[in-house]
Amino acid sequence: MEHEAEEPKAYYPRPSSAGPERCIRQMVYAARNEIPKPLSGRAVEVFSDGHIHQMTTEDRLRKSAFEVHSVEMGVDIPGIFHWMPEGLRYCKACDKDVPYRDLHAHLDFLFDDVLGVTRLCDVKGLSTYGYEALCKGEIPLDYLTQQSWYLRALQAYNPDIREAVLLVKNKNTSAYMEYRMVYDPAEDSLTVIDRVIHTGEHESVGLVIENITNASLKKFAEIEKHRAAGTLPERQYEHDHWRCSYCSFGKACWSTWVEEHEKLIDDAVLEGEVVDIVKLERQRALEEANAKNDKDQFRAGIKNILKAAGVRQARVGDYIVSWTVGTRKKLNEELLPPGAYQAALEDKPSERLTINRIKKEDEK
Ligand code: SF4
Repeated sequence: MEHEAEEPKAYYPRPSSAGPERCIRQMVYAARNEIPKPLSGRAVEVFSDGHIHQMTTEDRLRKSAFEVHSVEMGVDIPGIFHWMPEGLRYCKACDKDVPYRDLHAHLDFLFDDVLGVTRLCDVKGLSTYGYEALCKGEIPLDYLTQQSWYLRALQAYNPDIREAVLLVKNKNTSAYMEYRMVYDPAEDSLTVIDRVIHTGEHESVGLVIENITNASLKKFAEIEKHRAAGTLPERQYEHDHWRCSYCSFGKACWSTWVEEHEKLIDDAVLEGEVVDIVKLERQRALEEANAKNDKDQFRAGIKNILKAAGVRQARVGDYIVSWTVGTRKKLNEELLPPGAYQAALEDKPSERLTINRIKKEDEK
């Protein structure tokens, strides 16, 4: 209920949305002050949990040999967003107005190790799904970009602070993963040095990301251009991507898709690589259909043998074959109050790609 009273967060360029994975079209909607779909109560809880995970992690570090300090320190780069409209926005953490043209942000905290080296630390809480994707090698580009912005801004306060640690916590299991990185302000490049995961496995990464903050400056400038012109950039993701299913502007974004699609060319002739790809696709589709047919026949035969033998589970060679029966819940629309089913239906983007062979003259 508290959340319902909250205003949607106003758009302004900020490190947390500077990365390349954040959908640019979504940010243009926000910059145009379009009304977002309100977050679900569960999503609000997820965000508020994130803050608690940060505090517990910070607390754990305080009990170690590291010295945590400069918690939620504000950093500024005056005038860096020179294309932004003039004017001020209110920063709740500082209780003061700051110019839209300045980068003004609050980092998580800094910490000193036993040798007195100061590093920036940012804490992120992820679901098991997100955490495991990183374990398998996915690179958290948005988080790395955010760190680079803080490191770039910290140059004005202490040019010796070049290194950062990104601590990622699995919110379901409390497993931690740590990335160590160094930012080079002269080259605007970030090097991810290494990472350690909760199993103790240490991996040298050596990934260099060039032009990391300048690339987001370009993106922010493009957003401002679209805002001022009232235009929208291309969609950055397909409608079935998880980012679109969580996007607060999803409905507005895909509402014009059918119309746009109708403007595409209908009677084109394509040549080159696509001809071979279509042939291969058809060949694979035929093989799959044949394989499915065979599989269905084998399964029916196996069931008949079990039935005839009065068996529901058996060891067969190297396999256990189980035949189970049961019931499952299925919606019976007729039992719903009149109109309830129709009222619950929503338009969702959908698509289909069909490929049919052109009949030759003698086949017609
Ligand atoms: S629905 Fe998807 S493509 Fe559209 S703005 Fe949202 S994230 Fe971007």
